[in-house]
Amino acid sequence: MELFTTVQQVREQVRTWKKQGFTVGLVPTMGFLHEGHKSLIDRAVAENDKVVVSVFVNPIQFGPNEDFAQYPRDLEKDAALCENAGAAILFHPEPEEMYPNGFCTHVDVTGVTDNLCGAKRPGHFQGVCTVVSKLFHMVAPDRAYFGEKDAQQLAVIRRMVQDLNFDLEVVGCPIIRESDGLAKSSRNTYLNPEERRAALVLNRALTAAKSVMERGERRADRILPVIQAELGEEPLAKVDYVKMVDSLTMEDVETAERDVLVAIAVYIGKTRLIDNFTFQIQ
Ligand code: AMP
Repeated sequence: MELFTTVQQVREQVRTWKKQGFTVGLVPTMGFLHEGHKSLIDRAVAENDKVVVSVFVNPIQFGPNEDFAQYPRDLEKDAALCENAGAAILFHPEPEEMYPNGFCTHVDVTGVTDNLCGAKRPGHFQGVCTVVSKLFHMVAPDRAYFGEKDAQQLAVIRRMVQDLNFDLEVVGCPIIRESDGLAKSSRNTYLNPEERRAALVLNRALTAAKSVMERGERRADRILPVIQAELGEEPLAKVDYVKMVDSLTMEDVETAERDVLVAIAVYIGKTRLIDNFTFQIQ
């Protein structure tokens, strides 16, 4: 595996691969890789001749009061995971390589970014779409892999790829969880032992909502209170949002008539965690 830090290195390698007829998969990440990321890399390795993993804590997708500076980083461990999983390139640029002086072009996806994390984190998806567009141009992948953990991000990227005619397939991958149900996240590292226990309330609340839906309930005003009530039982939890939305448009839904995403964002202490499930309507 090669560790590249410049756009030119990536471009040259990809050009050579394309001449040789190899397919290329891309897995964009912010690093501090865990089993969730690994599941994306494994899938990419299974489906493509060559896989590029990017590790870049993207400054422009963090708000001024968010955790850009504290975001956990461990390049050595990330490199070992990527190499063991069979990636061909680990791309780890410095912010100046991605955003040189004078940078002033951004990609803005509207509508699908209006609700959920888009509403709570102004500018976040503009930062995500800008960096992901740049990576798509650099790597020109046949397929790009994103986790359902960030369900709105996946919907936004799908919309962007369609609207801007990126010639690639977006592959969504299921949420990987700890054995006790907590969705794996680099941010779980912020949790102290008491908060780590409290964080289980997210999955518990979603599981309760899923089971009322499985029993036939379709109305958001009966489903979402089940989640609110569970979250209310945990003193360390503070709700950011609890929503049922259309799984494609991310618009609020009153009654689940098509596939819906039930998505929550919850502060456990100072740490903001997200989780979700998609409920398919037959
Ligand atoms: P991040 O490093 O948090 O930006 O995540 C990089 C990619 O990994 C995104 O597409 C995430 O949705 C995905 N991802 C993160 N955590 C998980 C998880 N627990 N299960 C599946 N995919 C994940």
